[in-house]
This record gives sequence, structure tokens and C-alpha cells, in this order.
Amino acid sequence: MDYLPIFIDLKGRLVLVVGGGDVAARKVGLLLRAGANVRVVSPELSVSLQSKSDVDQVEHIAANYDESHMAEAVLVIAATDDMSVNRLVYEAAKQRGVPVNVADSPELCTFILPSIIDRSPVVVAVSTGGASPTLGRLLRTRLETLIPHSYGRLADLARRFREPVKNRFKTMSQRRHFWEDIIEGPVAEMVYSNRDAQAEQALQKAIEQADSEQLAKGEVYLVGAGPGDPDLLTFRALRLMQMADVVLYDRLVSPQILDLVRREAEQIYVGKKRAYHAVRQEEINQLLVDLAKQGKRVLRLKGGDPFIFGRGGEEISGLADEGIPFQVVPGVTAAAGCSSYAGIPLTHRDYAQSVMFVTGQLKDGSVDLQWQALAQPRQTVVVYMGLAGLEIICKKLIQHGVSADMPAALVQQGTTVSQRVFTGTLSNLSQLVREHEVHAPTLLIIGEVVQLHQRFGWYKPTADS
Ligand code: SAH
Repeated sequence: MDYLPIFIDLKGRLVLVVGGGDVAARKVGLLLRAGANVRVVSPELSVSLQSKSDVDQVEHIAANYDESHMAEAVLVIAATDDMSVNRLVYEAAKQRGVPVNVADSPELCTFILPSIIDRSPVVVAVSTGGASPTLGRLLRTRLETLIPHSYGRLADLARRFREPVKNRFKTMSQRRHFWEDIIEGPVAEMVYSNRDAQAEQALQKAIEQADSEQLAKGEVYLVGAGPGDPDLLTFRALRLMQMADVVLYDRLVSPQILDLVRREAEQIYVGKKRAYHAVRQEEINQLLVDLAKQGKRVLRLKGGDPFIFGRGGEEISGLADEGIPFQVVPGVTAAAGCSSYAGIPLTHRDYAQSVMFVTGQLKDGSVDLQWQALAQPRQTVVVYMGLAGLEIICKKLIQHGVSADMPAALVQQGTTVSQRVFTGTLSNLSQLVREHEVHAPTLLIIGEVVQLHQRFGWYKPTADS
């Protein structure tokens, strides 16, 4: 993050604006909206600034800038067309430790002004850190259409009832649950449709009638986060991620996805590596129960789909026993994600009529699979956790009658910008993989369909971050 966004209270405080043209006028307009006392230094003023000066909305000093004008200013903006003046202003402000912004000169700014969506008291600020003002404006336009104008009134209503709600509900989590119900429910709808008085009554009633025990009750969301690309999350996953008080996540959950979880949520890493368990499964199961019993909204975020090699069934078993409410949200499983992004259709009328998902996790040093079933023709076999056993798996399939030339692919970190696809045959894939530095997680796909990757491989990420 290049800049930390902050919101600053300028009511009744002095801001110096050096320059009297249109750019200065725009900034002055913003400053006045924020309640600042504005001093404009410029020999001449644009028409709009002059009109503001005429009615004493701004203090005008009709002179060339000198440092004395800066006295008492808490913020300084320079917007003259003379770079040497702009630089002088910048130097002086910097020396005094006063934040300074020079229009259109990022190198002469200690703060920047974002694009703003104003639904006061709700204000949304967007910045591209000066990288692309056009992109910033575009984003702003999108947000404008997304954020109803009535949000301002909704926030006002919430502000008026903040104290009563605080007095009525003891814990912060009860209050948050209460407000979420209000802001997503009929009270908000009434505000959106301009029935403010009715909304106020309904809110009053909700405060009186809300069941604080119900609000104190925790629940668990078992959510599939998909294979890596955040775009593959479901809407429901995203919504629940935004509501969580605490999140328990795996190694497979990418940082970009974790970024979408509610900022204030406590994060607990319970990831596992092969043969090394950071937190034992039983402990995870127990933790879910304990946290929910504390009244928390617990997000259990898992890579892919929670019910496909995800031990999701074990994790909700304790919840079911204890009568703790939970919901399960499916995710794009690795087989679906990796095959799509590698351009390998898992079924195809010409090559495969069925597909099998199996785990290649070694059990006591050997891979324990139904080889006979896996060796059947006209099917695709997808092996999760198959990297360590890759060589054995290929050998066993050949032993059970599959051609040594059967195409096979290993997809590394599928759907992410680090995706790599290695294709070969049962006889040479493990050699090929050994020659490259391969990183987990990887998915093994075996079957005739793998040859389609040459034609259909459409996803070619170039970024390496
Ligand atoms: N519940 C998960 C699977 C968990 S088992 C799902 O539905 O996808 C973990 C295995 O999934 C890994 O060893 C790997 O084989 C596979 N996997 C998960 N994400 C992957 C990805 N982005 N690329 C390749 N393989 C992946």
C-alpha cells in the first residue's frame, strides 16, 4: 500500500490554497464542503473563486505567495501554473511538517486527494495512488451506481439510534448482528423508498422486540473458497466472508481470497501440510464448536469444495451433535478449476464418458486405490494429492493394462497466476516433473482428454506475483 487512506476533520481549521484558477477552485469547493476555513493566495481569481470571496466564503489574499501565508494552516494545496512557486510551497510546507498537495505533481505531494463518492455521512474514497486518474474516475462512476443515494439517510438513521442500541444490547457482537439485520432488512428498504418516518418506527420496534439471546447465538459457515482465483468465489461465499467474526483457513486458501474476508475478523491458520498438521483435525472440529458457543460467526474457509477431499463432513459432525446452526457453501473444486483453466475437458464425447476423482495420498508408504476400476477405458481419472505418489500411480496403471502412452497432465497451482501445466504420458510424466521445480498444490489428470490441452489451453498467465 503506497498511501494510507485517512479521513480528516477540517471543520473550522485553516487550509491554504495557493493559486486562483479552475483547479484551485475545484479543490476549494471540496474543502468548503468539509467545513474548512480556506485562505486563497493569488493575485487574481477565477470567476467562481471571486464569487466565493465576494460573499466571504473564502479569505482572499491578492498577492504573490510568500511563506507568511502559511501561518496556522493545517493543510496546504498548491495549484498555480508556475512550477517554481509550487515547489516553494511544497518545500516550505514540508519543512513545517504540514501535509501538502501540489496539483498534478505526485512527486510534490505528501498527501493525495482521492476521488470521492459523497453520501454524507457515508463517504467512499478511491485512489489509484496517482497511477491512473482515469481508472480512478471509472471506478468512482461504477461505485456511484452501486451505492444508492439514500445510504446517507440510512447512515443518519443509524447514527440517531446508535446509543439506544448500545444501551439495549450488552455485547458488541449482539449489536453488530442487530445492525446487520437492520441494514439488510425491511428498515433499510423503507429508507430507500423514502419512507423515513416508517423506517424510524420500525427500527424503534425492532430494538424493543429483538431477541438478544438469538442475536448472541453463534453459527458456522463451512465455505468452499475455490482453487485460487478469487473470481471463482460464489456470491454467497463472499457475503458470508463479509459477515464473519473469526475465520479458520487452510494453506490452500490464497492470500487474495483472504483479503476479501471482513477486515476485523480474527484470523486463525489451521493449515496442514502433508505429514505435518499445524492443528490436528480433532482440534479444528472442537475449535469450531467452541467459537460458535461463544456467540461468534465462524467462517471455516477451505480450498476448493468443502465436501471433496476436504474433511467437511467431519467438521460439521460436531456442530450437528451440539445443535449449532451451520451452512455449507460449495466451491469450485480443484478438478473443475484446473481442468477449465488448463483447457482439458474432463468428459468429451470422443474420449471420456465418465470421470473419477480419487486421492493419491500415500497410506503407510503405498497408494491404496482400486486400480482395476481406474484402469477402465474411456474415462478420465483425476488424482488429488497425487504428486508424492505420481510415479507409483503411473506404474500401477500401466501394470493394470493402461497404455504407457496414455496422456497425463500435472497442473500446478491451477487458476492462479502461477499456474503451470506439464503434459506427457504415463511413462514419462514423472521424469518430466522431476526435471522441473514443481510447487504444491498439484492435480494429476489422466486420460485421452489431456491431449486437448494443446488446442484448448487458453489461460496463459504472465504475471509472476
Ligand atoms: N477440497 C479441495 C481439495 C483438498 S485436497 C478441492 O475441492 O479442491 C488438496 C489437493 O487438492 C491438493 O493436494 C491438490 O491435489 C488439489 N488442489 C487444490 N487446489 C489446487 C490448485 N489450485 N491447483 C492444483 N491442485 C489443487
